[in-house]
Amino acid sequence: RAALQLIDLCRHYREGDARLDILAGASLTLYPGETVALIAPSGAGKSTLLHVAGLLERPDAGEVLIDGQPTSRMNDDLRTRLRRNSIGFVYQFHHLLPEFSALENVVLPQTIAGYSRKEAAARAHELLSYLGLGARCSHRPGELSGGEQQRVAIARAVANAPAVLLADEPTGNLDPRTADHVFATLLALAHGSGLAAVVATHNLELAAQLNRRVTLRDGQLIELD
Ligand code: ADP
Ligand code: ADP
Repeated sequence: RAALQLIDLCRHYREGDARLDILAGASLTLYPGETVALIAPSGAGKSTLLHVAGLLERPDAGEVLIDGQPTSRMNDDLRTRLRRNSIGFVYQFHHLLPEFSALENVVLPQTIAGYSRKEAAARAHELLSYLGLGARCSHRPGELSGGEQQRVAIARAVANAPAVLLADEPTGNLDPRTADHVFATLLALAHGSGLAAVVATHNLELAAQLNRRVTLRDGQLIELD
């Protein structure tokens, strides 16, 4: 069963009298453990696609299936619950809570999803250790390097063991060596835990390490190479 299926997604915006068709029949099927790079110039609609795929925004037409479940007829509460349990997000900037430790940042989404504090803390510790941050659990984001911050953000994104990870330029703010390391972390997680990942990136070397590459052209997703 597909982890993520996008079927004929359409999304347009209005700019005065003009109509911008950002998504116009975008389709994609992603199986557990599969990773796909989304490579397209700024303004092509990458963020729009990730927001629609991540149930943060509704498409004008088309269907998003998460783990086989169609989402277009779900109400907002159901969509939010599905998003919290089944989708993880990573952005260019980590957006960690500055007053909380690395561990607490990874605990929080789990307690929101209904896990006990104890379970959540154990899982957070295990994840952070797996990502090489076992000795950094009690540090606040401001006491961590950029690469460490981004790895904590990844741990937070996968804390609830989502089926799908959506990453928007996750290494865009990092130097090349750190970017490599963070990317390797993402890949290991995807392949190790059967997570399906869509990673928007401008970095072609990193994109080459994923299973597939797609671009957005005239609002459609086209396979590259
Ligand atoms: P990318 O992430 O590839 O840079 P985006 O999805 O952010 O592209 O944006 C695609 C296009 O849609 C851009 O031209 C942007 O200005 C426009 N756009 C995005 N969000 C909105 C919005 N809420 N209202 C109007 N136009 C928007
Ligand atoms: P909250 O618990 O604050 O209501 P949500 O359930 O709305 O959070 O969000 C779940 C996930 O979606 C979080 O990872 C959050 O970072 C992300 N998210 C929520 N709203 C937006 C948004 N407008 N743009 C990008 N990501 C968002």
